[in-house]
Amino acid sequence: MHEPKLTHLATEDPAIAELIEAETTRQFEKLRMIASENYTSTAVMEACGTVLNNKYSEGYAGKRYYEGQQFIDPIESLAVERAKALFGTEHANVQPYSGSPANLAIYLAFLQPGDKVMSMALAHGGHLTHGSPVSVTGKWFKPVHYGVEAETGRVDMDKVRELALAERPKLIIAGGTAIPRTIDFPAFAAIAREVGAILMADIAHIAGLIAGGAHPSPVGFADVVTTTTHKTLRGPRGAMIMAKPEHATAVDKAVFPGLQGGPHNHTTAGIAVALHEASQPAFKEYAHQIVANAQALAAALTERGFNLVSGGTDNHLILIDLSNKEIGGKPAAKALDAAGIELNFNGVPFDTRRPLDPSGIRLGTPALTTRGLTEAQMPQVAQWMDETIAAAVKDDTAGLERIAGEVRDLLAAYPMPGFVA
Ligand SMILES: *Cc1c(COP(=O)(O)O)cnc(C)c1O
Repeated sequence: MHEPKLTHLATEDPAIAELIEAETTRQFEKLRMIASENYTSTAVMEACGTVLNNKYSEGYAGKRYYEGQQFIDPIESLAVERAKALFGTEHANVQPYSGSPANLAIYLAFLQPGDKVMSMALAHGGHLTHGSPVSVTGKWFKPVHYGVEAETGRVDMDKVRELALAERPKLIIAGGTAIPRTIDFPAFAAIAREVGAILMADIAHIAGLIAGGAHPSPVGFADVVTTTTHKTLRGPRGAMIMAKPEHATAVDKAVFPGLQGGPHNHTTAGIAVALHEASQPAFKEYAHQIVANAQALAAALTERGFNLVSGGTDNHLILIDLSNKEIGGKPAAKALDAAGIELNFNGVPFDTRRPLDPSGIRLGTPALTTRGLTEAQMPQVAQWMDETIAAAVKDDTAGLERIAGEVRDLLAAYPMPGFVA
């Protein structure tokens, strides 16, 4: 059952209550390996489900456009102070509604329409908001993209520098959604300085690893850092922007009134709680365990003949090229879901297939690490994945069901925040 209890909801709107309960059970029974997902704590969920939802607070602490901020101001200030302390930054804005609007705020703060932005290509691991043609960031700005090398699956920073010198972008973005390797923030900063560009680090995926000391920090190198709060950082769905002091005003004005109205105060409270949790010693262990689990899983998958982009991982994320497995990424992801293993199909660099039916799958270990799984279970996970792909190729539905049952049996022993039996 869901925890906190849905007592009032079950009476008021049983249809929604039942669907939430069903989703709770699904999250308990599945091996959740979507690299951007996690299980947030019950404390965070409690903070998010409160009367803070009722309050309008346009502006910032001490400078609001509505009265009655006696308790909202200290909540937002606590969130800001905790973000600054955790990431060692001098300015933090916790109001962006999510990662995409946080990124758009950076464009608004520093660019004019038509200005040039240099970022990782979507097909090589970048994000839609890094200038994809279907995003406002690609429609209203002029993207140029770097990528990874075909032989190594890694970014060659000399080539990034050459491209920056040739294109002279106003904004350079470091970071992405499908990057299994450490991002070289000092090298990006040197290039940005050389061409006079603003450097934005988008740490949406790796914020929790950075907070826990399991990935180098961009703070001190990047002019601005954007992040979601709900991926490895394990908070509520939301985002933050951290900035060097000279950019504080531009960033704050871009978020409000540039893009948004009232901040989501209930989410701000949840972010504050998550930042408190992330500052505890146990979170350092958590961050390092995420990486240890990903590396153990990568080794076990490689042993079973899976072809990993870049040959492995430095962080929480693994990108598999299934070209040698007689199955595309999409049917593989569907079969894995049926077998209780949840991940997403994904393009791989230099993919020869279409984006909606690509060659790869992407997976990560943040959520299963929250459940308490360690390196000891990773060979078993790799075995299930291998068996699932084999079953899918043979159309063996019974095989998928058998694996789903085994996954369920294993996970029954691992508690889930937000669920009580
Ligand atoms: C997830 C992600 C975002 C966007 O976050 P949303 O909350 O989904 O809008 C932005 N950048 C990167 C690199 C991401 O991985």
